[in-house]
Amino acid sequence: MKTTGYAAPSRTAPLAPFDFERRELRPNDVAMEVLYCGVCHSDLHQSRNDWGWSRFPVVPGHEILGKVIAVGAEVRRYKVGDHVAVGCIVDSCQDCDQCRKGFEQLCRKMPVQTYSDTERFSCEPTAPTYGGYSKHLVTREEFVLRVPDGLDLSRAAPLLCAGITTYSPLRTWNVGPGSRVGVIGLGGLGHMAVKLASAMGADVTVLSRTGDKEADALRLGADRLLVSSDPEAMAKAASMFELIIDTVPVKHDINPYVPLLDIDGTLVVVGQIGPLDEPNTMPLLLGRRRIAGSPIGGIAETQELLDFCAKAGVLPDVEMIRMDQINDAFARLEKADVRYRFVIDMASLPAVAA
Ligand SMILES: [Zn+2]
Ligand SMILES: [Zn+2]
Repeated sequence: MKTTGYAAPSRTAPLAPFDFERRELRPNDVAMEVLYCGVCHSDLHQSRNDWGWSRFPVVPGHEILGKVIAVGAEVRRYKVGDHVAVGCIVDSCQDCDQCRKGFEQLCRKMPVQTYSDTERFSCEPTAPTYGGYSKHLVTREEFVLRVPDGLDLSRAAPLLCAGITTYSPLRTWNVGPGSRVGVIGLGGLGHMAVKLASAMGADVTVLSRTGDKEADALRLGADRLLVSSDPEAMAKAASMFELIIDTVPVKHDINPYVPLLDIDGTLVVVGQIGPLDEPNTMPLLLGRRRIAGSPIGGIAETQELLDFCAKAGVLPDVEMIRMDQINDAFARLEKADVRYRFVIDMASLPAVAA
């Protein structure tokens, strides 16, 4: 299938229009027209090869929402016209202990990333995966999510990465009514962590370097904002949290936050992939505290999130852009100048030239 999208041709070049082919439908494949695609910080990192594993050209995009336009002969769960979504992974071995438990994101043989990765099965062994900054997507049925009725299509796309990345640790660490949750950073991930934890009934505190975002934090559902550059306020908050979700997407110092955990509390890193400043183990040992990491979530858990958001009325705050505004959006994302997630209206992408 001929399609078109936007790609980063190299780590230094801006994104530009790119025509390419999607694979012919296999019996278990779903083809969708992409309606909306969220802009994740990973899209920017991968377009610049910040993690060293980008495969150029990179067609980014793993917060994908669309409409089914065709299905393979053996597809049972979806039919033409259904609203569906695809997140950060599009395949896994389906056979290891983790896949069998529904933790495809932890597949022993590595899940296939939605873009900048290699397809698992292909006659061409190095067929690249291309993401959602495109008109069409072809994905095996097992990695396609159903968009429940009542979820605003134009706002739901960021749930597929920012949403599940924060929902999964909230579920893993059993957050519920009365849980004391801290959220470091109020960006794309952080604002979802606040909305989701608050919808689960938790007592939510945003940790931010300045007080600038206090009104926003409260509007999003937080109970308070704690200014992390204020030593007195930080000292008063000692042992305050059972769980801290750290959404900061760059190298930073977690040492000021660890003493804010209660005994047996966990600080879970979901933003930065790579080194952190050197951690001090003293507060870890003394309080039996933990530092953990968490990558997205499994397919069943992602479906659970979409259903939860439809029921609880939780949606990301988005700023809609056109496809040709993506390079400006990347520049603004780098300055954290977005409240709180860009979403590309894919209708703005011209159809593939005949
Ligand atoms: Zn992402
Ligand atoms: Zn597996």
